[in-house]
Amino acid sequence: MNDFRPANPIQDFLVFGEFGDVNPCITDSSTYTFLTPEKMREVFAHEIEGCFLYSRHWNPTNRFLSQALAAMEDTEAAQVTASGMSAIACTVLQMCGAGDEILSSRTIYGGTYALFKNFLPRLGIQARFLDLSDGQALAAAVTPKTRVLFTESVSNPLLEIADIPALASFARAHGLKLVIDNTFTPMIVTPARHGADVVVHSMTKFINGTSDTVAGCICASKDFVAKLTDVNSGACMLLGPVLDSLRAASILKNLHSLHVRMRQHSRNAQFLAEFLRSRGLGVHYPGLAEHPHHALLEKMMNAGMGYGGMMTLDVGDEATADRLMVTMQEEKIGYLAVSLGYFKTLFSSPGSSTSSEIPVEERVAAGLTKGLIRFSVGLDEDIERTAERLARSLRRCGIRMPEEPLTGPRREAP
Ligand SMILES: *Cc1c(COP(=O)(O)O)cnc(C)c1O
Repeated sequence: MNDFRPANPIQDFLVFGEFGDVNPCITDSSTYTFLTPEKMREVFAHEIEGCFLYSRHWNPTNRFLSQALAAMEDTEAAQVTASGMSAIACTVLQMCGAGDEILSSRTIYGGTYALFKNFLPRLGIQARFLDLSDGQALAAAVTPKTRVLFTESVSNPLLEIADIPALASFARAHGLKLVIDNTFTPMIVTPARHGADVVVHSMTKFINGTSDTVAGCICASKDFVAKLTDVNSGACMLLGPVLDSLRAASILKNLHSLHVRMRQHSRNAQFLAEFLRSRGLGVHYPGLAEHPHHALLEKMMNAGMGYGGMMTLDVGDEATADRLMVTMQEEKIGYLAVSLGYFKTLFSSPGSSTSSEIPVEERVAAGLTKGLIRFSVGLDEDIERTAERLARSLRRCGIRMPEEPLTGPRREAP
């Protein structure tokens, strides 16, 4: 375990607003005035530090949020974007051109998979998908054209853990850039501290945490962020996925409670996972000792944040999964909805939603079965009550709990 405390640098990043405001003034401008045309020419030519030209390039609100995110991910700099997908797309398009290749984990978010598999080949960029924990396969797949190694720190939806230090040394040895999507584990894992070159997030999920906006970010070196925002050649500048400053301001405010939320998401997911396991059900959660990558995550994770809010349950077949999700919604456990990181538990079956872009054969090979339900466990104060509702839902759906005890679920928090 690490002693890095990502909430500390965010809390030490004090912002003094224009009028001494504790929350900085929100930039309500797309453009910025110059006192002289000479100064404008100079700024466009050299992009002078601290000068704002036009809000698609930079604006003060987005800069404050970016600085806080860089502090959280322990990178030199960051850039915010209008979605997680645009953060990923801009990152790989900045790194790759026609003829280049990407090596990607085969278990990634469906949208990223579709971008790599279906869209990038139109630009002459090829992606190969493999099990990145298989060192031999990885070594066999790398070619002189490979530029990027891409994976998620905790994968969507199978909760496989990437061995970031091992991937980072492989990337260094082969001159690749290691890009990590850390959407599932903000504050829990700090990939840059384990050698990742670029860390991307869908801020739509845990970082914002209120399911009211779509946003993303790219945390990286100063040099890479300068490349992304270059007026002549930057993917963020020229493809233009700018985050609206009103949204950036609200995400910055939510970021200040992220550590409290992550701890509660983790605590509740750990409780439900242990509860389901105690009933003999097919639960996957990295906080369970029998999870195949439990020890690996323990080695990388920061202290005190738990093992995250994501958990999966395999109930065998699609019809049972469908029935259970409807029943859980009736029992007010949460919502049948995609996305994650909300105060209420969200559940969906990835095979027919967020991973439907991945071909069936590849899903089966990766263990993404039709009876799999993905949970983003909420911030419930009384998780014992939720476990009772879950047990009731399982019984209502006729799901056998081989080891159901005679008493109710244990009361103490794990
Ligand atoms: C949701 C998600 C994305 C895409 O982010 P958007 O904000 O929806 O564009 C990328 N990666 C992961 C792991 C996600 O869960």
